[in-house]
Amino acid sequence: MPSVAEILIPLALDSAYSYAVPAGLTLTVGDVVQIPLGPRETVGVVWGVRQSPSGSNLRPVTGRLDVPPLSGPLRELVDWLARYTLAPKGSALAMALRLPDEAAQSETVRIGVRASGKPPARPTAARLKVLAVAADGIMRGKSALAKEAGVSLSVVDGLIDDGALEATALAPEPVALPPDPDHARVPLSEAQGEAVRELIAMMNPAPPPGDEHGSPHLTPNLSFQEREPVPTVETRRGLTMGVGDETFRAPTILLEGVTGSGKTEVYFEAVADCVRRGRQALILMPEIALTAQFLDRFAERFGVRPATWHSGIGGKRRERIRAGVAAGEIAVVVGARSALFLPFAKLGIVVVDEEHEAAYKQEDGVHYHARDMAVVRGRIENCPVVLASATPSIETRVNAERGRYRHIVLPERFGGRRLPDIAAIDMRSDKPERGSFIAPALIAAVRETVAAGDQALLFLNRRGYAPLTLCRACGHRYQCRNCSTWLVEHRFRKALVCHQCGYAERRPDSCSECGTFDNLTPCGPGVERIAEEVTALFPDKRMIVLSSDFPGGAERLRAELQTVAEGGCDIVIGTQLVAKGHNFPHLTLVGVLDADIGLTSGDPRAAERTFQLLQQVTGRAGRGEKPGRALVQTFQPEHPVIAALLSGDAARFYEEEIAAREAAGLPPFGRLAALIVSANEREVAEAHGQALARASEPPDGVMVLGPAEAPLALIRGRYRFRLLVKTERSVDLQSYLRDWIARGPKVRGNVKVAIDVDPQSFL
Ligand code: ADP
Ligand code: ZN
Repeated sequence: MPSVAEILIPLALDSAYSYAVPAGLTLTVGDVVQIPLGPRETVGVVWGVRQSPSGSNLRPVTGRLDVPPLSGPLRELVDWLARYTLAPKGSALAMALRLPDEAAQSETVRIGVRASGKPPARPTAARLKVLAVAADGIMRGKSALAKEAGVSLSVVDGLIDDGALEATALAPEPVALPPDPDHARVPLSEAQGEAVRELIAMMNPAPPPGDEHGSPHLTPNLSFQEREPVPTVETRRGLTMGVGDETFRAPTILLEGVTGSGKTEVYFEAVADCVRRGRQALILMPEIALTAQFLDRFAERFGVRPATWHSGIGGKRRERIRAGVAAGEIAVVVGARSALFLPFAKLGIVVVDEEHEAAYKQEDGVHYHARDMAVVRGRIENCPVVLASATPSIETRVNAERGRYRHIVLPERFGGRRLPDIAAIDMRSDKPERGSFIAPALIAAVRETVAAGDQALLFLNRRGYAPLTLCRACGHRYQCRNCSTWLVEHRFRKALVCHQCGYAERRPDSCSECGTFDNLTPCGPGVERIAEEVTALFPDKRMIVLSSDFPGGAERLRAELQTVAEGGCDIVIGTQLVAKGHNFPHLTLVGVLDADIGLTSGDPRAAERTFQLLQQVTGRAGRGEKPGRALVQTFQPEHPVIAALLSGDAARFYEEEIAAREAAGLPPFGRLAALIVSANEREVAEAHGQALARASEPPDGVMVLGPAEAPLALIRGRYRFRLLVKTERSVDLQSYLRDWIARGPKVRGNVKVAIDVDPQSFL
């Protein structure tokens, strides 16, 4: 009987397609193949093979590609991802299957040069300098040689043409050198040592009775390297940790520690343990926290920088990292959320740093949460997952409290350093001067701080100069033409910009509505406006504004973060990108300019998010030798979030917040999903939303709310309506959604329905 292969194609298609397997070709599940699709050829992955008499009527597979097959765990992850998020299975596959593209093939070859021994035809001074450097016979890169000799590249090229230098193609530089788990082991504090022992004990199966010698957590001096490597066996669920331990289920562990407690050093030890066992480690970070500072810190501990993976890594390098990871040669990857889909051959640990970060949720295409998918991948591979945070998400905290996750706590800062003292500035009584945004008490504190030679950080989570521009004559407010958003003035760019779609226009000189000249007024502050105020107040102090939208991109940002870390500036003004994970040892004062932003949004996580952000940003203070303090400008010091921040009673805040969530049946005590209907015309979007609602037929334990106009009612010219599904925890949300969509109205014309399971954004 002919063989039929079910081929999953990495496009927005839900199911696999059947193709005939031509005689002479044997296919197995996971193989990457070329197939005809309509008039063209495309690539797919074998998802199943069966014998069927109908086989002869099908179009045949063109052939198998010479690339490593998609492994069992990754196929399982793709299936799981599609099932959970309701994304088309092909879209989920696309994330795990990034094939080499044309651009990747054409990477420039590095050329190495060395002296050939033949004298140059024209021995100019510059040429002789080059030959003097090259005289040692060592192969150098062309530009390295030019640089060392202090001449331009053309001099080197001339010598190659001349025959005085011989040139050959060099082997590509390795994408990552092997990290040395014992390169520089910092002495751990007692609390850290204890945490490491607990962590490593949890990560590994208990030794057989009587074999206390081999037990890592009983080794008093933390020298795990003395142990024999643990033999491993293959099982269906991936690799188990040791012979005879097939029943060991690797746990998910919450590593909770206040800012500056030394969590990084603790999970580095777990990573080192994993590397010593010859297994691979993945450290996930929110993209923005993936800084040079972190990579250097890794290099200090492990001797080399790790392989990195994020959206900015392109072409050939991506392919080489993928290949190195698949071959098990790359031991540690530090990456943003998409690193979860790398084809690790023998994954031994996943660390999710700053696990509470909303940035882990992908908000377009496949709506997945990288933290949750990390836990899933850990289950599939039977490898431990460590979730690290100073301010864990409510979801993770509840999982830890209920025993689904293990829990390790570092209650104090490393080195006896104190957490900053936090005080409120009540903006109702301690008002800034007219037209300014920094209260006198905060100005005084900044003055004191910089006078003492320390650094101050002023935090405002708003890019640009002013969030709203209006005409004083007619009251006209400048709005985006594609979105229901106010245009934000960016004074450095001399433009009004939409933060939703990027639309920008020149800031007009006269009102575009009533024509009054020079009468536009900025309302409210953004970081650029604070910078203006600080410049006026402290003209002779060095100031840096850190905002993700400044020209110069990631390079400049990295350089400026470095400057701040080294103490090369007095006052830092920044958006939330300064709040995350950075270590600024000279920083002793943090001023929060508007602690109330975000408290009033309709998001069920508004309180949690604000608390986390404020804890993180105030936690930047006092991480060095000197103690730190924070001043928080607020109009509502008695709000539970602000009160908890001031008292430092995080435990109480979380307890109350968890109780409130439970009472309201919100995650993690109930489930949520959002359906976002969009269309080019408002009525069309609304009508489709209403038709969906009519088809919802919610059973017991399910509530369907809406359609309601989305808070961002218009984005990029598309009108948006939202439906919210709220269910009890025991309900199979995915099955319900699937059935509902199936019996719901057909999607016609330009209507789109996005499904967002476990929504993090409610805009
Ligand atoms: P967290 O991630 O918990 O905020 P970090 O791991 O960044 O904390 O540590 C805070 C600071 O303490 C860093 O400057 C780090 O270098 C330092 N530190 C932590 N552990 C040690 C240690 N065992 N020895 C020396 N310095 C340490
Ligand atoms: Zn817009």
